[in-house]
Amino acid sequence: GSGGAEPVIPFAQPGSRTRVYAVASGKGGVGKSSVTVNLAASLAARGLSVGVVDADIYGHSVPRMLGVEGGPTKVQDMIMPPQAVHGIKVISIGMFTPGNAAVVWRGPMLHRALQQFLADVFWGDVDVLLLDLPPGTGDVAISLAQLLPSAEILVVTTPQTAAAEVAERAGAIALNTHQRVVGVIENMSWLELPDGTRMEVFGAGGGQTVADSLSRSIGATVPLLGQIPLDPRLRENGDVGTPIVLAEPTSGAATALESIADRL
Ligand code: ADP
Repeated sequence: GSGGAEPVIPFAQPGSRTRVYAVASGKGGVGKSSVTVNLAASLAARGLSVGVVDADIYGHSVPRMLGVEGGPTKVQDMIMPPQAVHGIKVISIGMFTPGNAAVVWRGPMLHRALQQFLADVFWGDVDVLLLDLPPGTGDVAISLAQLLPSAEILVVTTPQTAAAEVAERAGAIALNTHQRVVGVIENMSWLELPDGTRMEVFGAGGGQTVADSLSRSIGATVPLLGQIPLDPRLRENGDVGTPIVLAEPTSGAATALESIADRL
């Protein structure tokens, strides 16, 4: 807003029926964006109207993972988001950095960007909005809590101890911001070998550890929502813009993602 008034965020208004989930992780590369786009695709395939905000300043891989071709257009004062499969509306911070220039995003810039994504983008009457947050315990989670206190948090981790420890810190921010932590999602949990046995490439237990620890610190049950196995097809389908829940719905990774979506 130019007049100094705070822009209106429709999702923050009383009576908004949009559920907003922010997907957080302690560190990069744990599959936060992959989880976000697959949950979006799963929910959209059920007939829900879904929007995705890619606020991951380090990656902005969401448009590629959802096969989004175009960019946003402007209609009067609103930004119209391009659409992906099943009409999923997508806005990415990468759409505003020409030529994917490396931009040093400072806290206030990020806050403004997030505010614009929530207030100036025409989302319409979406049932669910998923936000792919940058990894870490940074400013964006706090900005989000200020802009949209009703946003609920999903924490993604791998089974690895080190990843779990940082994921715990990312989730613990919600304790200060009083946001609800919906649950923990463990990704890359195992690789299924041809003989049916599971190889625990990154160890075991990280997801449950984070869930238990957040439950203790928040004082309410934070469930482990699911464990997603490693599957090369998850990456391959992400690279060509067809989420694995749509491309390989019977795979272990897709069924794990579907049962996580069931719980949202
Ligand atoms: P983040 O958003 O946490 O940085 P990404 O979703 O970009 O992580 O995932 C990092 C890389 O790992 C990507 O190449 C992605 O395709 C791959 N990946 C994520 N989850 C899995 C999985 N369960 N099996 C195989 N590859 C995966």
